[in-house]
Amino acid sequence: MNKILLPIIAIVLLASCNTAKTDDKNTKPTGVTDDTLNTNFKQYSDKFIEALWLQEPEWATNVGYHEHDAILTIPDSNAHNNALLFIQTHLDSIKKYDLTKLTPSHQIDLQMMQNYLQAKHWSLEALKEYSWNPSSYNITGLIAFMLTEQYEPLDKRLQSCHQRMLKIPAYYAAAKTQIKNPVNELRELAIDQNLGGLSIFEKDYIDSVNKSALPAEEKTQMVAAAHKAATAVKDYVSFLKSLPAGAGRSFRLGKDLYDKKFEFDIQSSYTAQQNYDSAMARKTFLHSEMAKISRSLWSKYFGTQAMPTDSLILIGKLIDTISQKHTTPAEFQSTIEKQIPELEKFINDKKLLYLDPSKPLVVRKEPAYMAGVAGASISAPGPYDKNGNTYYNVGSLEGWPAAQAESYLREYNHYILQILNIHEAIPGHYTQLVYANRSPSLIKSILGNGAMIEGWAVYTEQMMLESGYGNNEPEMWLMWYKWNLRTVCNTILDYSVHVNNMSKNDAMQLLTKQAFQQQAEAEGKWKRVSVTSVQLTSYYSGYKAIYDLREKIKAKEGKKYDLRIFNEKFLSYGSAPVKFISQLMLNQ
Ligand code: ZN
Ligand code: ZN
Repeated sequence: MNKILLPIIAIVLLASCNTAKTDDKNTKPTGVTDDTLNTNFKQYSDKFIEALWLQEPEWATNVGYHEHDAILTIPDSNAHNNALLFIQTHLDSIKKYDLTKLTPSHQIDLQMMQNYLQAKHWSLEALKEYSWNPSSYNITGLIAFMLTEQYEPLDKRLQSCHQRMLKIPAYYAAAKTQIKNPVNELRELAIDQNLGGLSIFEKDYIDSVNKSALPAEEKTQMVAAAHKAATAVKDYVSFLKSLPAGAGRSFRLGKDLYDKKFEFDIQSSYTAQQNYDSAMARKTFLHSEMAKISRSLWSKYFGTQAMPTDSLILIGKLIDTISQKHTTPAEFQSTIEKQIPELEKFINDKKLLYLDPSKPLVVRKEPAYMAGVAGASISAPGPYDKNGNTYYNVGSLEGWPAAQAESYLREYNHYILQILNIHEAIPGHYTQLVYANRSPSLIKSILGNGAMIEGWAVYTEQMMLESGYGNNEPEMWLMWYKWNLRTVCNTILDYSVHVNNMSKNDAMQLLTKQAFQQQAEAEGKWKRVSVTSVQLTSYYSGYKAIYDLREKIKAKEGKKYDLRIFNEKFLSYGSAPVKFISQLMLNQ
């Protein structure tokens, strides 16, 4: 979806690239200062971003850059070639900068840009997801975003939507020609998601048009385009349904593609195999710690009853019992809200890292369009709206059937709910974001490394508990280990399924028996691993890399080591791959 370009844009793009090249040449004369090189690099990276948004107008809309909101790229071979040209042009431009003469922040930017371009090239030429992932063609989410997010007056957004809608029939027609050997699971996902988004065209958009103050004639044209767009979606769905099931490629990536994708997406200093091996060792460690705690807690909860000899059964019994301590559906939101200031106080008292009091987290009830995703999530301002509010969306359990609410509250019990707040909010995702937004580098925001972002959130869970959060209660540690086991098993599952051909049956055994997950959760995870790859491993790989870095710094600094300095320094580089942050921190 992000690899396409209209012909007319290609001309503009080439012009901007040529300008960039000329600038680069000007930096080359001998005796040039590093300052000049850095200034030029900064100018080039700004131009790169501008060119990127012409190349990826749909992505631009989503990050809050609205210059190209009226453009929809048609995923045909022309677009494919334009993308390759964009990649080659910028890889050439980047080569002209001597990495060693750039500031640390620019060094990271350069490597992130290079990785993005190389990954894109590999994706187009080797992975070829465009030919086997029918769910990569879907415009309904983009139009929904433009209708919902109020970044411009409604009339203006409707007009941009209209321009894009006019291209939707051509978009889906091109999609049909691209699909060569669809993965069956992704074919089904594409059918579900495209049908699920149909009401955006048939209802939401038309309702908004009718409510607007636009001239009647324009409204008529808009409604007509929406109907044609809906027809194109239905036609695409019929096409997908007509494809013989099981005729395409397997959803399993296979070792070669997985290893390479891991390299590009995670940007780890470990290989995928090393990361998997480390997760397996971590699982063994967690099981043994959990068994120790469970034995020590047995008599507190089970008195003189005989203790199970199988340690996994023993742990499972303790987890089930301790999970019964939880809040109520009515108090779910207020329980979360009350915890935020408690977490802040703990971090300040223990001096774990500086929390900027001028950037408060706004806790709000989950907006209607997110409804259904209970729990909590962060809505962060995009890189073009750094001063916007950060919201902590808290889902409501109102109206849930009692049994479903009970099962949910056991999962997010007294202990896990606190860990969730650490992960999502403070000092996890929310705090990391505040630090990242201080960095002037747009590149790091746009190309932000998912493994670093998720790894930080997981690392903070452990960092808080190690610092005494939860008073070292064994129940808290047991529950965190279970939560951490989920992260670890995500990695094991992802690698085993995509590389080692793990069966669904074995996967369910791993998740329910060894990771203590409920059947429904495990089923959901199986579905997720069959429609994604590598993403599930980002949590553990990032966590492991950050933890290893901290231990190295600790050893290196000895008595001078200070946790607060480590945390703040680490975050100061923005959302960059841990590998690059490590190089800079260890070389100081
Ligand atoms: Zn209960
Ligand atoms: Zn997270």
